[in-house]
Amino acid sequence: MKQNMISVEEALEKVLSYVDVLEAEDEYIMDSLGRVLAEDVHSTINIPPLDNAAMDGYAVQAQSTEGANPSSPKILRVVGEVAAGYIAKEEVAAGTAIRIMTGAPIPKGTDAVVQFEDTDEEKRKAARKPLNEIGIMRQVEKGTNIRLAGEDIASGSLVLTAGTVLRPQEIGVLASLGREVIRVIRRPEVAILATGDELVDIKEPLPPGKIYNSNTYSLAAQVMRYGGVPKILGIAKDNVKALEDKLKQARDTDLLITSAGVSVGEYDVVKDVLARLGEVTFWTVRMKPGKPLAFGVLTLGKKKIPHLGLPGNPVSSMIAFEQFARPAILKMLGKKDFAKPTVQAKSESRVDNKDRRRIFARVRVTKRDGQYFARLVGPQGSGILTSMAQANGLMIVPEDKPAIEVGDEVQVQMLDWNEEM
Ligand code: AMP
Ligand code: MG
Repeated sequence: MKQNMISVEEALEKVLSYVDVLEAEDEYIMDSLGRVLAEDVHSTINIPPLDNAAMDGYAVQAQSTEGANPSSPKILRVVGEVAAGYIAKEEVAAGTAIRIMTGAPIPKGTDAVVQFEDTDEEKRKAARKPLNEIGIMRQVEKGTNIRLAGEDIASGSLVLTAGTVLRPQEIGVLASLGREVIRVIRRPEVAILATGDELVDIKEPLPPGKIYNSNTYSLAAQVMRYGGVPKILGIAKDNVKALEDKLKQARDTDLLITSAGVSVGEYDVVKDVLARLGEVTFWTVRMKPGKPLAFGVLTLGKKKIPHLGLPGNPVSSMIAFEQFARPAILKMLGKKDFAKPTVQAKSESRVDNKDRRRIFARVRVTKRDGQYFARLVGPQGSGILTSMAQANGLMIVPEDKPAIEVGDEVQVQMLDWNEEM
């Protein structure tokens, strides 16, 4: 069995070489948030469909307002009223107007809208004068307060291109085109298998010497957060038969993630089975935590499934997931940007890097006076999962740095940025 020491970048490049963007599927727009559009979307309609009022007011011919001002208003005869969603029946000629609401199509014969504030409507109402006439108190130009048909989207135009990540605003644009269903890249199904004789499922009582399987749940939640669909395979005991049985259930998935069983001193069953069923290589990545890592392709029946073997320690598995599984999922989803959102911060803690690996230190990032600060959240053991719960970022200690001193500028990968769903 090979053991190779590689950098985080080399490991990521290799992991990504095993996965490809998935196929497109039809999807409701409401299930498409955060997904990647797989078609060029053209409009078949004008938006807005007709010239319409941008303000509540009176639709007029601009020429009828010539010379109007508050001290000598132009009096126009009101021949009708039109609300949004309706077409005015009346036509407007010189000297007449139609009362109009925002969004209502511009009546025939008019070319401007005078907003209520520029008329004497309030005064008339206060004086209980009839509204069959209106005083215009301001001269307006042609086109005033009119939104033109197609000014947002012209019929036939290309509105959204394939590859676009759909945010709430793109979902709105699709709805404005009347699209209920679109083509998007499908979500990857990610099988998650925990291995280890010591593990007990959360549904069971905890016997002496055992621990609850937490990795499955933190990893499944990470899969969901980044847009995948987890398939929980449960726990495989450290024996060949148990492992092979469980692995069969990964057959129709897009990625298999296993936890534990990849470290050097590990009971060799997991490694043996994984190596026998596929082309899996075991690597030592120059990082901390999360050093041992396995990846390759597992052959299950006729299907080949990319496989990522994460370390067993709860913190290591989560951090290795962030560095390697997250980009793999994003690639399958058709996304192009795999980098974790990162901020530059001043370190408020000292971090030693004696064995010169890339350390992902659990920190709490705060912002004071426009500057980010990063402080270690306490014990950094890779079994201390509560430190992940306290952290909102991972401070990166470069492998060529012997230490980070208090006051040093550092890069921090943000765990909470909410950039994906
Ligand atoms: P291993 O990689 O098998 O050497 O495991 C490293 C450490 O992680 C051991 O203390 C294991 O008990 C622990 N561990 C392994 N798998 C899990 C899991 N699914 N949930 C919680 N802890 C685990
Ligand atoms: Mg183990």
